[in-house]
Amino acid sequence: MEKKYNHFETSVIHAGYDAKEMLGSLASPLFQTSTFTFETAEQGERRFAGEEEGYIYTRLGNPTVTILEEKIAELENGERGLAFGSGMAAVSAVLIALTKANDHILCSSGLYGCTYGLLSMMKEKYNIEHDFSTMESKDAIRALVRPETACIYVETPINPTMKLIDLKMVAEVAHEKGIPVVVDNTFSSPYLQRPLELGCDVVLHSATKYIGGHGDVIAGLAVGKKEFLDEVAMTTLKDIGGVMAPFDAWLLIRGLKTLPIRVDRHCDNAEKLFEKLRSHPKVANVYYPNDEEHSDYPIREKQMKRGGGLVSFEIKGSKKDAQRLLNSLKFIKIAVSLGDAETLIQHPATMTHSVVPEETRLEMGITDQLIRLSAGLEAWEDIWADLEQALDSL
Ligand SMILES: *Cc1c(COP(=O)(O)O)cnc(C)c1O
Repeated sequence: MEKKYNHFETSVIHAGYDAKEMLGSLASPLFQTSTFTFETAEQGERRFAGEEEGYIYTRLGNPTVTILEEKIAELENGERGLAFGSGMAAVSAVLIALTKANDHILCSSGLYGCTYGLLSMMKEKYNIEHDFSTMESKDAIRALVRPETACIYVETPINPTMKLIDLKMVAEVAHEKGIPVVVDNTFSSPYLQRPLELGCDVVLHSATKYIGGHGDVIAGLAVGKKEFLDEVAMTTLKDIGGVMAPFDAWLLIRGLKTLPIRVDRHCDNAEKLFEKLRSHPKVANVYYPNDEEHSDYPIREKQMKRGGGLVSFEIKGSKKDAQRLLNSLKFIKIAVSLGDAETLIQHPATMTHSVVPEETRLEMGITDQLIRLSAGLEAWEDIWADLEQALDSL
């Protein structure tokens, strides 16, 4: 797809929308309708036959949702975008579209909890097996690819330990074998990282997070080649039915306009908190992609514009101490999710990763002392003051 605007900051506002087509409306209109009327029976016939462009029924397409899909396609630099009712609806529709019974999926060693749950279900029901790889080299990946490997599925930064995977390297080795690479880009948003530009094939988002940015919508997006997403649109999206509601698309169009400013602020705050946390005596380790001393830092420099808004840290103490820290906070909110205006904090071992068996969880580096923080948009001094008093109280 040819990009219409030279800068990301302009595309988030203007891409996918032409006010002239909408009676001059500055904001994109909300088409809150389930269905679309045909002028004649023959027109209905032509629409269903695909001989005439036009909307039929909102599960098959809706003008407000289309604006969002065109916008995200341009932002991720892909051919087509597709909207879903949740991040998991996007993940499941894409993985089901890419696999058949007895296939194999190679995953990054660290996955969103429900994605892990989906893979377990696919194994049980359809014998679709999966392996985890740290993907630190081409050989590490080659060693686990099988003839029946249907795709490589990657999250980077890996939640919540912030390990990074070199996407260009993964795409190169996958394409040697003709295997597509799917990337869950939720943690970075297209402002910080664009996997398609690095050679990957499909990008997924939980738009619930940075893209929405205001903690008021659950939604998902997928971007990639038109041929593949056309297939998803007409099969695992249309027939399983995890579609996005028009109002949610409207909220996301609104949220996207401020994505670059918000994400820069999230990053500014996370950088400050990272520095403060690592010099606090009660903190044992801090994980942040912009850590210059971290061995993954060169990957951050290569593929991410900045380090992102998430910081994880291990405290010195026990699980009880981790819970006590959360309970001592004054305005930082205890909640899963991320990318909201409010600073959110959670305890992965008992919350987002509680479904992962303990042994696997510890292998992933998710100890009982690990805490994940999503830096909000507040003044960093206030966020730190709240965290510091809670740490000091341990
Ligand atoms: C939240 C999240 C999801 C799932 O998205 P929902 O919108 O909650 O369905 C998937 N991947 C990552 C990395 C997430 O953070």
